[in-house]
Amino acid sequence: MAQHEQVRVAVIGSGFGGLGAAVRLRREGITDFVVLERAGGVGGTWRDNSYPGCACDVPSHLYSFSFAPNPDWPRTFSGQEHIRAYLEHVADVFGLRPHLRFDAEVKRMTWDAEALRWDIETAAGSFSADVVVSATGPLSDPKIPDVPGLDSFPGKVFHSARWDHDYDLRGKRVAMVGTGASAIQIVPAVQPEVARLTLFQRTPPWVMPRVDRGISAAERRLHRALPFTTQARRGLLWGIRELQVQAFTKRPDELGLVESLAKRNMARAIKDPALRARLTPDYRIGCKRILLSSAYYPALAQPNVDVVASGLSEVRGSTVVAADGTSAEVDAIIFGTGFHVTDMPIAERVVGADGRTLAESWKGGMEALRGASAAGFPNWMTIIGPNTGLGNSSMILMIESQLNYLADYLRQLRVLGGRAALDARPGAVAAWNHRVQERMKRTVWNTGGCTSWYLDANGRNTTIWPGTTTEFRRATRRVDLAEYEVIRPPVPGGGGTGGSGGEKAVDAEVGA
Ligand SMILES: Cc1cc2nc3c(=O)[nH]c(=O)nc-3n(C[C@H](O)[C@H](O)[C@H](O)COP(=O)(O)OP(=O)(O)OC[C@H]3O[C@@H](n4cnc5c(N)ncnc54)[C@H](O)[C@@H]3O)c2cc1C
Repeated sequence: MAQHEQVRVAVIGSGFGGLGAAVRLRREGITDFVVLERAGGVGGTWRDNSYPGCACDVPSHLYSFSFAPNPDWPRTFSGQEHIRAYLEHVADVFGLRPHLRFDAEVKRMTWDAEALRWDIETAAGSFSADVVVSATGPLSDPKIPDVPGLDSFPGKVFHSARWDHDYDLRGKRVAMVGTGASAIQIVPAVQPEVARLTLFQRTPPWVMPRVDRGISAAERRLHRALPFTTQARRGLLWGIRELQVQAFTKRPDELGLVESLAKRNMARAIKDPALRARLTPDYRIGCKRILLSSAYYPALAQPNVDVVASGLSEVRGSTVVAADGTSAEVDAIIFGTGFHVTDMPIAERVVGADGRTLAESWKGGMEALRGASAAGFPNWMTIIGPNTGLGNSSMILMIESQLNYLADYLRQLRVLGGRAALDARPGAVAAWNHRVQERMKRTVWNTGGCTSWYLDANGRNTTIWPGTTTEFRRATRRVDLAEYEVIRPPVPGGGGTGGSGGEKAVDAEVGA
C-alpha cells in the first residue's frame, strides 16, 4: 500500500556510497533517515554485476571502508560474491537494516521552495526529506547501443550487468560486444565452455597482468590478531597508487615504460603477429582504464575465439555484422558496453528550485561543487558526483572523502538552526569546475589520444578527478559556507526567500 514518510535525510542507493552515507549519518547522531533502493537488496555494483569472472581491480584491503576493515578477505583481488557479502555484513553490523527501503525506485524528486524540503516519489510510496544524498552510482544503469536489427535477433541478448544465469552458454556460439573491464573478465571465464566466441573490439585496451593470489590462513590470523597489520597493508596499497597517479596527471610521457611491460604481457600469450597487431592499442596507456588480467590474452589465443577489430554495426537475423563487414552467426549476444555515466538517468528525475531538472541544468556537461553540490538544487548532494572518478585507485577513498563533506554539511545546517537550506553558488561551482578542467588539460585522460567513457558528448572529461586522493580529501574536509547561499523559508508577504548576503567570488582550491 502506498505510504508517506517524512524524514530528515533520504539516501538514494545502497551500494558503497549509500551504505557509507547511512553509517556516517548514524555516527553523526542522525537516525531519522531512510535509504531508498530500487532493487531487493544492498550491494549496488556488486549485487548487479554477477557475470562469470566478476572481480575487483583494486585489492580488497584497499577496496573496503576504512571504518570496517576485513581481516578475512580470501584473495588479494576479491571476487564479486565476497564484496557483496562484505556489504551485507556492513548493513548488519552498523544497524542499517531498519533504514533500508527496498523496491523503492525513486521516480522523481522535487524541491519544495516553501517548505524547504524534497518531495520524493518512489515505487514504494512517497517521502519528504530535508536533505537528499544521491548515491545512485556512476556505473549502475547499463548501456546497450542502438544496433540496427537487434530487436529481431532470434537468440539471447543480455548486458554484462544483467547476466542471465538461466541461460546455458555451453556449446553456444556467442558474440561478446566490447573490450572494457567487464568484457575482459567475461571472455576467459566463458571461452572454455562456448562453441565459438566472436569478440567485437572497437578499441583494444591496454592489459597488465593481474597478480592475484589466495590470502593464506596465517596472514588472516595475523590480521585478526594484530589489526594494525591490516591498516599497514591498506596503507601500502594506497601509497603505491598515490605515487602512480602523478604519472597520469602530470607526466603522461613517462608511461612509455609501462606500455613496454603491457606489450610484453601480450607477446607472452599471443604468438600470431596479425592478432597481436589487432590487439595493440595506438593510444597512451592510462588514457582508458588500464585493465588487469592474466587470463584474457591466453583466452584470445584459443582456436574457438575470433577477435574482430571493429565494432558491431548491424544484426541480420542471427548474423552479427561488424563495421568492417566481418560477420558471424551466433546464438547469443552479450553486451559489455558499459553504463550511462555522463548521462545518468537519475538527473532526469531531480527537479530543482527553478523547476528545471538536473539533466537540463547539466545540458552542457555535468558539474558540481567539490563533486557534490549542483547550483539550484538546495540540500541535495551526490556521492561520486562529477569529476570524482579514479583511473588507478579505490573509489571507496573518494566516497569516504565525500562522507566527510556530507557530515560537515549537516553540521553546518545544524549550526545555522531553524529551517535552512544550502544552495551552491553558481560562481563557486564555476570556479571549482574551471580549476578541475584546467588541471585536466595535461592529464593522460585528455592528452592520451583516445576516446573513452570518461568524456561526455561534448568531449569534456566530467568523470575523473585530476589529482591524488589526498588532494580530494583535503578539498572535501569541510564545507565553506561562502560557497553556498543560505536559504530560509519565505517570510509571509515578504516576497522571496532570504539569502545569506552578497555573491562572493570563491577561488575554490582544487588540490595544491
Ligand atoms: C563491474 C564493475 C567493476 C568495478 N570495479 C571497480 C574497481 O575495481 N575499483 C573501483 O574503485 N571501482 C570499481 N567499480 C566502480 C564501482 O561502481 C564503485 O567502486 C562503487 O561500487 C560505486 O558505489 P555506489 O554506491 O556509488 O554505486 P552503486 O554500487 O552503483 O550503487 C548505486 C545503487 O543505487 C541504486 N539506484 C540507482 N538508481 C536508483 C533510483 N532511481 N532509485 C533507487 N535506487 C537507485 C542502484 O540500484 C544501486 O544499488 C566497478 C564497477 C563495476 C560495474
